[in-house]
Amino acid sequence: MEYLTEAYRKFGIRDSIIEFAAETERELKTRFDAIDANAEACQMKVLLAMQKNRVSEGCMEASTGYGYNDLGRETLEAVYADVFHAEDALVRAQITCGTHALALALSANLRPGDELLSPVGKPYDTLESVIGITPAPGSLAEYGVSYRQVDLLPDGSFDYENIKKAINEKTKLIEIQRSKGYQTRPTLSVERIGELIAFIKSVKPDVICMVDNCYGEFVEPVEPTDVGADLCVGSLIKNPGGGLAPCGGYIVGKKEYVEQCAYRLTSPGLGKEVGASLGLNRAFFQGLFMAPTVTAGALKGAIYAACLYEKLGFPVVPNGTESRHDIIQAVTLGSEAGLIAFCKGIQSAAPVDSYVTPEPWAMPGYQSDVIMAAGAFYQGSSIELSADGPLIAPYNVYFQGGLTWYHAKLGILSSLEEMAKAGCLPQFA
Ligand SMILES: *Cc1c(COP(=O)(O)O)cnc(C)c1O
Repeated sequence: MEYLTEAYRKFGIRDSIIEFAAETERELKTRFDAIDANAEACQMKVLLAMQKNRVSEGCMEASTGYGYNDLGRETLEAVYADVFHAEDALVRAQITCGTHALALALSANLRPGDELLSPVGKPYDTLESVIGITPAPGSLAEYGVSYRQVDLLPDGSFDYENIKKAINEKTKLIEIQRSKGYQTRPTLSVERIGELIAFIKSVKPDVICMVDNCYGEFVEPVEPTDVGADLCVGSLIKNPGGGLAPCGGYIVGKKEYVEQCAYRLTSPGLGKEVGASLGLNRAFFQGLFMAPTVTAGALKGAIYAACLYEKLGFPVVPNGTESRHDIIQAVTLGSEAGLIAFCKGIQSAAPVDSYVTPEPWAMPGYQSDVIMAAGAFYQGSSIELSADGPLIAPYNVYFQGGLTWYHAKLGILSSLEEMAKAGCLPQFA
């Protein structure tokens, strides 16, 4: 393996880090095998859906203008519906990002006087403006949709008693965020999401259960729609786009709720019938085809980072041994210098923009300055290797992605090297 050591030396990684990482990698063999087996199962699921829906050469064509009768778009939506074992799907380039997909699903299915409930604590930062937790023009609050939240219990379990109390005659839709996002709570497994949905339906059967599935797709052999979710929402520049979708979002679930989303996205009366695909169908199909293996690579990177940083004494969520339900790895770096060095390392390992230095910056939708490292083929693609974190104590970094496991690995080794250089890793001084 001397040639591999030599390869990493060329990136300036010191031998002590290379050796430390190689030892950890050997310990992870069994877990990596399980990730590969899951990716294999997901790959078969995607292929079966593509064959069943007769994906053809004609599906790769572009439509323009209104986009009536776009065979590729319609077939792609049928494939997504099948992959998620759902009735219907809306998969569009016109859905600009994950936040937009979530805002769309919420605003399409809530009416003035309705109430939205989050039974898993505060939702993702950018949803604060969408819901109106932070007052914002155009928020659901402005339209007379109220919001309630029940936090998880300190041990991470559901607060069933208070969830039951929070559900009332106004409760129309419940949003469950699968991934931890910018928090250090545990990510929910699909099984736990199923338990929560079953409980909610037992209290109020007609409530719409919607899952923010961002970063969770293909991490497990089942998805939230397999365990009772009425709607499941995500971004194509995360897992399901496989790194090839340049933009877009998806909503899958019950036909009547997906249709509401289509009427809101385009127009009442038009719904799913319009929306030019502008030549993106091929990228969406091929990205979905690649997504299971790309997600597996990202997952290996996340586990690898967890194990290495945990051994070095940093708190990590999830920890090195627990099971995984999304591709985000949080590491508490404990210092501003550590957070900046980590991001510098990730940036320096990138195929694109490797020579730039990330700087903390104020970002729309976030409450504090944020530092972001990404050297991506598609700007903002967070299935590509990236790291970010808000500049506030305890200096958590959220690390995710990697189109290949090898690239994720180099990024992690580079982060260690930069941390060592910044004096944050006395072990490698
Ligand atoms: C990324 C993410 C979002 C928002 O997606 P954007 O594409 O960044 O707008 C929402 N929820 C979760 C859990 C996410 O990870």
